[in-house]
Amino acid sequence: MAVQLPDAAAKYAEGTQFIGGRARPGTSGRRQPVIDPASGKPVLEYELAGPADVDDAVAAAEGALPQWATATPADRSEALYRLTSALREMSPDLVAAESAQCGKPVRLCEEFDVPGSIDNAAFFAGAARRLDGMAAAEYSPDHTSSVRREPLGVVGSIAPWNYPLQMAAWKILPAIAAGNTVVLKPSELTPLTALMFAEAAREAGLPDGVVNIVTGAGPDVGEHLAGHPGLAMISFTGSTPVGRRVARRATEGGKRLHLELGGKAPFVVFDDADLEATVHGAVAGALINSGQDCTAATRAYVQRPLYEAFVAGVADLMASLTVGDPADPATDLGPLVSHRHRDRVAAFVDRARAHATVVTGGRVPGGDLAAGAYYPPTLITGAAQDSEIVQQEVFGPVLTVLPFDTDDEGLALANDTPYGLAASVWSRDVYRTGRATRELRAGCVWVNDHIPIISEMPHGGYRASGYGKDMSAYSFEEYTQVKHVMSDNTAVARKEWHRTVFA
Ligand code: NAD
Repeated sequence: MAVQLPDAAAKYAEGTQFIGGRARPGTSGRRQPVIDPASGKPVLEYELAGPADVDDAVAAAEGALPQWATATPADRSEALYRLTSALREMSPDLVAAESAQCGKPVRLCEEFDVPGSIDNAAFFAGAARRLDGMAAAEYSPDHTSSVRREPLGVVGSIAPWNYPLQMAAWKILPAIAAGNTVVLKPSELTPLTALMFAEAAREAGLPDGVVNIVTGAGPDVGEHLAGHPGLAMISFTGSTPVGRRVARRATEGGKRLHLELGGKAPFVVFDDADLEATVHGAVAGALINSGQDCTAATRAYVQRPLYEAFVAGVADLMASLTVGDPADPATDLGPLVSHRHRDRVAAFVDRARAHATVVTGGRVPGGDLAAGAYYPPTLITGAAQDSEIVQQEVFGPVLTVLPFDTDDEGLALANDTPYGLAASVWSRDVYRTGRATRELRAGCVWVNDHIPIISEMPHGGYRASGYGKDMSAYSFEEYTQVKHVMSDNTAVARKEWHRTVFA
């Protein structure tokens, strides 16, 4: 049984750019397959966008801007509520398309990716009416000050392949709720659900040109978008090296920048933690989306008294999981996004094997799974803190575990990578968790949990994981500029001010 591509997605074999409210083929002259990583077979092939498509999309977004930027918050909110409903109606097709293009288990798409994106749309439909300023002041009894939050203009967004629909939602929704128009480039590997999102926006009656999608490759279309003079801002989610490159292109032209980059989240277990809860938390935190999650638990640090039991518990639980067909509701882990990425993950583990112990997993499966990009849940112990498997983002179902003795040591090890996207701490002692939440250097710290996110709360990194926030009202800081308006209500005040300056 394989996931069938729904008609709603299959039609993008004909038109894979969504520009000015219309789907059309790309003009690069190059074709790109969308491959189902569970079988290794193409589900469709499409015409990649070229730089000219980016120019057209930016022009469409510029054309839509005057009307959308001056619509009332109530009107934009109403449009986003209609978009929320359109996405909800499209849910079964979104689930099937997301699963087919990424190899995600259908169950994960049904319970996480699609409802999470719809919830984000509902949140921003409401938040569109709360663009209020945070300051008030009276320079004198005769002056009134107010703050206007204004859109920036056309926003260019670049997104990765690991959560294609959610990334499209996170990038597009806060930007358009705040009155900007958007050109989004999804990953060329996984363009379908971003295109369906744009289709939902059209069905919801959003004006043509408010949401545009170009589905080209990174080095030409992504670079062209990042440097495009028609854009006010670039919002990028992806790997740290590509993000830095995009940042250089964007800032040369003076654009505002928002970067959501890689992660290497630590999972810190103090010796009074609930062992069973930590074992389940570590396995779920490390293996969600086959570990292709920027906040996935990748490095567990476990205080010595719990270390051995933790390793044994995680190894048993990992070995009990079902890796296989994404369409089967019993499947826990599907394949990785591509064979190329699977081989990269396998190479990381093979290099680690030379100096560390692979407790479970660590071998590319054969048999029924041989044709797909599968990799099993993998647990590694004994790796050095400064080794690449502990320091670098693997982005697969691989967890390293290391012991520590004192709380100071555990927290120091947790902070010892260049990244700072997310972290978790596990303990029953509020003083210990309280200290850890202050000292862990990450944009999100969970206490006795790892992974859940919520539309109301900000998501974004520290240090090499980037800056700026997705989701929540905090994202409006990225997508708006703040204007101070001061009114002098009386001629008297104005005359007094002139006397102060000139008399
Ligand atoms: P990637 O950096 O390879 O690609 C991301 C996007 O950038 C894609 O659309 C790609 O086509 C484009 N791109 C590639 N080269 C480009 C260039 N030279 N100029 C402009 N654009 C270019 O990342 P990926 O492999 O698609 O996704 C995995 C990465 O994304 C991981 O590092 C993961 O941690 C990160 N990620 C971060 C977050 C977060 O919120 N911080 C969320 C999801 C994924």
